[in-house]
Amino acid sequence: MKNILEVQDVKKYFPVTKSILSFVSPRKKYYKKALDGVSLNIPEGRVSVLVGESGSGKSTLARIILRAIDPDSGSIIFNGSNITNNNGKDLWNYRKHAQMIHQDPYSSLNPLMKVFDIIKEPIDIFYKNYSNEERTNKILAVLDDVNLKPSVEFAEKYPHMLSGGERQRVAIARSLVIEPRLIIADEPVSMLDVSIRAQILQIVKQLSVSRNITVFYITHDLATSRYIGDEISVMYAGKIVESGPIDTVLSNPLHPYTQALLDAISEPKFENIDKQKVIRIKNFDSIPAESGCKFFNRCPYSMEICKKEPELERKETNHDVSCFLYEKN
Ligand code: SF4
Repeated sequence: MKNILEVQDVKKYFPVTKSILSFVSPRKKYYKKALDGVSLNIPEGRVSVLVGESGSGKSTLARIILRAIDPDSGSIIFNGSNITNNNGKDLWNYRKHAQMIHQDPYSSLNPLMKVFDIIKEPIDIFYKNYSNEERTNKILAVLDDVNLKPSVEFAEKYPHMLSGGERQRVAIARSLVIEPRLIIADEPVSMLDVSIRAQILQIVKQLSVSRNITVFYITHDLATSRYIGDEISVMYAGKIVESGPIDTVLSNPLHPYTQALLDAISEPKFENIDKQKVIRIKNFDSIPAESGCKFFNRCPYSMEICKKEPELERKETNHDVSCFLYEKN
């Protein structure tokens, strides 16, 4: 399977200016390790999920992949070319192929523009040679594709005339209209009603198949990942701790953090009403360890060896995990 995107050992540290530690040693510089050596591959035409809790570095990675910010080190390879340091025309070309769907459909659409003009914007930027007729045909076709029908009527509406789900469909249409090869969807349904999340994810999945678009779906919600994902990578404190085909990882989670995420999914069944959930985690509020395994402070199975840093290694076919529990003797 060809990889459309490869993230290679990417690091991004942000300086911490008002840490309590800076009062202890004011001259020493402190950093938050948002990404601490992240590597992952995104196969073409598939939906790859990146799951992790808030603050784990997911959105920083999305911004680096889109070249909104630069990594401190490491590389981003798109379709076989290293785009990490691209500028000018090369960067512009890359952005034509890599689009983003944002989390908040309320703030990501300009309230003063009609849907037609919102979707036309990327065409105006990247395909200036299109005629007016071509632009109109593309916009109406993409509105049909995201199920905003009749498309002619929706094209004339303003964002305030739409529901949250309809706005997010407009945002999807805007990303799709220039036919990118990669879409990065950063928590695209987290601000929507639970009842319409599945519909939106289904649309993204269908479009990925029908248009052969690769989707990188970023979420904190393991439950929605199942709807849409083919592969999954689990991130904790700026590191990938487990990855593989989604069915394999979710049916046989190896890393204690993935196991805890799965334990935390609530199943709204009547027979579960009085059941107390057991989540395999200790010290819920503890922060990631500074050295060694970052999950050390919360892991119920931590051992002396975990004060060293585990590598992400292959444990089963296509199933990688970074944990000393699976160390071969
Ligand atoms: Fe737990 Fe050790 Fe595995 Fe880290 S390496 S997840 S502390 S068992």
